[in-house]
Amino acid sequence: MQDPESYLSSVFGFESFRPGQEEIVRAVAAGLNTLAIMPTGGGKSLCFQLPALMQPGVTVVISPLIALMRDQVRGLRTAGVEAGALTSGNTPEETDAVWQGLEAGTLKLLYIAPERLAASGTERMLKRAGVTMIAVDEAHCVSQWGHDFRPDYLRIGALRKTLDVPLAAFTATADTETRAEIVERLFDGTQPETFLRGFDRPNLALAFEVKNQPRAQILSFAAARRGQSGIVYCGTRAKTETIAKALRDEGHSACHYHAGMEAEDRRIVETRFSREDGLIVCATVAFGMGVDKPDIRWVAHADLPKSIESYYQEIGRAGRDGAPADTLTLYGPDDIRFRRSQIDEGLARGDRKSADHGRLNALLGLAEALGCRRQILLGYFGEEATGPCGNCDLCAVPPETFDGTQPVRKALSAILRTGESFGAGHLIDILTGNATDKVTERGHDRLPTFGVGRELDRRGWQAVFRQMAAHDLIRPDPDRFGALRMTQAARPILKDEATIILRKDALARAPRRPAVRT
Ligand code: ADP
Ligand code: ZN
Repeated sequence: MQDPESYLSSVFGFESFRPGQEEIVRAVAAGLNTLAIMPTGGGKSLCFQLPALMQPGVTVVISPLIALMRDQVRGLRTAGVEAGALTSGNTPEETDAVWQGLEAGTLKLLYIAPERLAASGTERMLKRAGVTMIAVDEAHCVSQWGHDFRPDYLRIGALRKTLDVPLAAFTATADTETRAEIVERLFDGTQPETFLRGFDRPNLALAFEVKNQPRAQILSFAAARRGQSGIVYCGTRAKTETIAKALRDEGHSACHYHAGMEAEDRRIVETRFSREDGLIVCATVAFGMGVDKPDIRWVAHADLPKSIESYYQEIGRAGRDGAPADTLTLYGPDDIRFRRSQIDEGLARGDRKSADHGRLNALLGLAEALGCRRQILLGYFGEEATGPCGNCDLCAVPPETFDGTQPVRKALSAILRTGESFGAGHLIDILTGNATDKVTERGHDRLPTFGVGRELDRRGWQAVFRQMAAHDLIRPDPDRFGALRMTQAARPILKDEATIILRKDALARAPRRPAVRT
């Protein structure tokens, strides 16, 4: 067996392995069952393509994305590797060529769409073909809870057993639950050799800003990057259209993209984006999977993503070429409320919901971080950082902090004394001693908490409430719109058993800084 390195340069034209690739290649080539968790753009395909060449017989690759499959097949053939795909988009000639390659035993990689697994005859065909290994791309599609669920992925586990060959699964989804589901469904519950590598994307500058004038914030971020390709992720379809228009009004080349558009119109945007320089796409999360443009220079979130995984995946679309790229995420109390209620109102089971709250909490922790954001992000994914990154907004300007224990206790007591029935606005009126009609009508001006928080102004209190929500000390009441309730996590602070450090409101800090370049 030749050394993997020799294939790396002779077939793929790469000088060296990327972080993590070599170990995975060696494990896969050694015929071990493997699960590799690598971020988007980390170079997963090489990890099964290269071992496929090192082994006799054919490697079956299952992937949900026909366009990407076809790209890979084209790339491999150009490099002189016999590869073929069986997908619904095939011409009869293409399909014939694949069959012939299989019959002759010359085909090294056979890409098949998951739907094919359901077709009668596929299994028989694969049994005859001398399959040495199964590679599963986007393995998280086997998870019934994820939004990429593909029912046909559930057939893969059985196929592995029938063919009795090793299986290598790849995904960019790092959360432990999805991982467990992959192990259960693809590997029958037996833990495969598992790799989690390459989550650090040092060329991506990380930044969060409190949303104050969202449109102006996005426009100024884009203005500083005029002429560069970028994506603005928006929480709603309507917003993709308004922000795209606002960008065009400022002379940018911008268009919108969401799942409510005709397939044809969406394809036009995808094609324009990949071909044109400097186009900005304002999109919902529908835009992304399958976007394979290496030189996206920036990604901005006009609204907070739903979890730390989504955040990572979405910013990860920028800078795949390794050159510096900027990211900015806006967030505010409305985002937190929106994401919480989305989880609460969703159809998921209770344990799933609390896991989703946990993933949202992780993202909020990142938003309200007190130190290097990259260290926190990598820590979440289980990878260790060597030190502060020097390429995030908090490394550039460390936040000012203060002991927030007293204000938080005052806020909690205002919440409890008013029966957990009111929103932040009313509670701030009480704390700052603002005797509005609503306050006096309810007799809240006679509460002991009335006016105890005059040391902070309204904006200061808004920052405290936002951070309390981000620390999951308070949550909106799912049954009473706008009302805030205290969570279990707040008890130790209320009982004086724990303290909490807060940031002076980010609003008070320098507005937009250009990203740091090293
Ligand atoms: P993903 O992990 O998202 O599937 P790909 O396998 O498509 O990523 O790889 C992303 C990009 O990185 C591709 O353009 C690929 O050619 C490139 N790449 C992969 N491995 C290497 C390497 N060792 N050296 C240089 N470029 C690489
Ligand atoms: Zn940093």
